[in-house]
Amino acid sequence: MEQFDAIVIGAGHNGLTAAAVLAGKGKKVLVLERSTSLGGMMATGTLSGVQLPRLAHLLYNLNPAVVGDLGLKLDAKPVPTVALSEDGRHVVMDGAEVRFADGTAHPDAAAFATLYQRLVRFGTLLGQLAQAAPPDLSGSLSLAQAGELGALARLGLRLRLMGKAEMREFLRIVLSNAQDLILDELADGPLAGALAADAVRGAWAGPSAPGTVFSLIYRLAQGGGAALPSGGMDAVVSAFAGSAETRGATIRTGAAVQRIVVEGDRVTGVELADGTRVSATMVLSTAGAAQSMLLAGHESYDIEAVRRLRNFRTKGTAAKVNLVLSGAPEFSGLSREQASGRLLIAPSVRAVERAFNPVKYGETSKAPVIETVVPTLTAPDASGKHVVSAVVQYVPYAPDGGWTGTARQIVIDQVVGALDRFAPGLAGMVAASELLTPGDIESETGAPGGHWHHGEMSFDQLLSVRPANGLAQYRFGPAGLYLAGAAAHPGGDVTGAPGRNAALKALKEMAA
Ligand SMILES: Cc1cc2nc3c(=O)[nH]c(=O)nc-3n(C[C@H](O)[C@H](O)[C@H](O)COP(=O)(O)OP(=O)(O)OC[C@H]3O[C@@H](n4cnc5c(N)ncnc54)[C@H](O)[C@@H]3O)c2cc1C
Repeated sequence: MEQFDAIVIGAGHNGLTAAAVLAGKGKKVLVLERSTSLGGMMATGTLSGVQLPRLAHLLYNLNPAVVGDLGLKLDAKPVPTVALSEDGRHVVMDGAEVRFADGTAHPDAAAFATLYQRLVRFGTLLGQLAQAAPPDLSGSLSLAQAGELGALARLGLRLRLMGKAEMREFLRIVLSNAQDLILDELADGPLAGALAADAVRGAWAGPSAPGTVFSLIYRLAQGGGAALPSGGMDAVVSAFAGSAETRGATIRTGAAVQRIVVEGDRVTGVELADGTRVSATMVLSTAGAAQSMLLAGHESYDIEAVRRLRNFRTKGTAAKVNLVLSGAPEFSGLSREQASGRLLIAPSVRAVERAFNPVKYGETSKAPVIETVVPTLTAPDASGKHVVSAVVQYVPYAPDGGWTGTARQIVIDQVVGALDRFAPGLAGMVAASELLTPGDIESETGAPGGHWHHGEMSFDQLLSVRPANGLAQYRFGPAGLYLAGAAAHPGGDVTGAPGRNAALKALKEMAA
């Protein structure tokens, strides 16, 4: 039987990060990926012969410690968000600065800057918590737990150092809803809508849901901005995989793990779908939390852990529409450079909330929030064709009546129709299209519910309770098993943080 020090399940970016960190410390590492390609949700696809980002298309919060540890050589250009407006007065958002696309001042610029900077200040407090395992608040206090609690104590101290007024403001807003906070400061419109859309990105929630301010702050805590990688997501996958392989990790695709072998409360390896067994004393899984538990067997967990994970919410609502166009789309009122960034259709806070409502009843939004990137405007395809990559929120996992061909076409037509209003003529250039519903995303990547973050990133599912109380410090049931993907702290997006933190935790425990 082949023998490794560590087996990593999944070659998404978190699996590759974990492998690189472990291999960098001299461990003999094997990465097993069930798909035939690498990258998981950030994999590249092709449509009608043209390469495009199959799901993820931007780098949101790539963790600087991950970049450093892995020596990632990535050329990623930060891009502003353009909040598209029906009246043609598009708003360009670049961090705390906003202006109209024609360069004129936005009437809410000062109010936005004050609000944004305050949220970033609050985010900076939480940002420190992303770099390591969250404090363990379960059970009695051990020496290790005391160390982890130190992080919380430092957070409390930093909060106090902000002064009484800021501390009060933080406590007042942190669990409130993004809709009220935003509309207290800004007039409703594309600028306010874009901020609301960011508060609920990938979530099964509208901006009026309690705790959405926390989600926004948490996002800003990890960077907040978007970057477009030169060479596309393919270059990102290659950088992560290259780092793991250069450090000596072995990566195998088309290798689905069907069981994590547990003997006497400790992992001893894995069994593949073809029955092959590979042995290792450490297994790091980047499959979803419930799936990882299933792989190890429910009998390896106490009943309370099984019950808690059953309640972990993983309903995906983000779908992907990819289009191939016969020519370049021209967005009215935007320069080519502005159109090359992140384009957001979220006309107002209330429109974002209205877009969410139907999904509660298994229906697709009539006017969804759409985040679009046209990567070929910066990196032209040799064929001269262009690609539109659009994330669509909100789309149900299973609509009433199922995903018939007609139901699918309706979503594609909505996206094409919405974009055509801003880039007249785009609809006539569509040469190929595809829709990936949350269900498609689940079957393709294994992510439970097809959820962007492998599980809702709401206050009750973050930090010390992600994915559940007692399972939140990467250790995941039997000794030697760790959860290392987006279902673990600090959650989803292409950050690499869960993979790095889990690998560091595993190394520390193995050395003890
Ligand atoms: C539509 C959509 C758009 C998104 N857009 C962005 C974006 O623009 N920017 C951004 O930062 N984030 C985006 N995200 C989120 C981001 O892509 C994910 O949060 C992140 O990629 C998760 O990484 P991961 O490594 O934890 O998991 P994954 O990428 O899901 O990787 C897990 C891997 O494990 C493999 N696996 C599962 N089970 C097994 C098994 N039993 N045996 C072997 N292998 C297995 C899977 O095949 C998969 O490759 C988007 C998500 C979606 C759904």
